Amino acid sequence: MSKTIFEKIIDRELPSNIFYEDDLCIAIEDIAPKAPIHVLIIPKKPIQKLSEAKKTDQALLGHLMMVVKKVAEELNVQDAFNIIINNGEKAGQTVFHLHIHLLAGRNFTDLFPG
Ligand code: 5GP
Repeated sequence: MSKTIFEKIIDRELPSNIFYEDDLCIAIEDIAPKAPIHVLIIPKKPIQKLSEAKKTDQALLGHLMMVVKKVAEELNVQDAFNIIINNGEKAGQTVFHLHIHLLAGRNFTDLFPG
């Protein structure tokens, strides 16, 4: 199977602005940001989408959440950020390699009123 855009970024075949990287994941700036801060947290394992994650991916999924927390702290937005995972084409997923959108500096309360 051909590599996803994100695998090419992970393998340094495509450039990106990297905020964080470890053995399991990478966090990069979104190329077309939808908020003043828009970071993608991407597992190195090419899981196509969240609904295809296996029980054995549980620790990896937890790790991604802790990386969200770490990146939010490093960008000093830990008090106000949103995360989004688009799962499936009909839900707006365009890159079929699981990723978490971390968005900050934009108000989503119209979508999610308290
Ligand atoms: P999705 O719509 O699949 O949830 O999100 C894919 C995201 O990847 C989009 O926000 C899009 O802007 C971003 N994206 C697509 N291609 C690239 C790329 O080559 N580099 C980076 N940094 N982001 C990309």
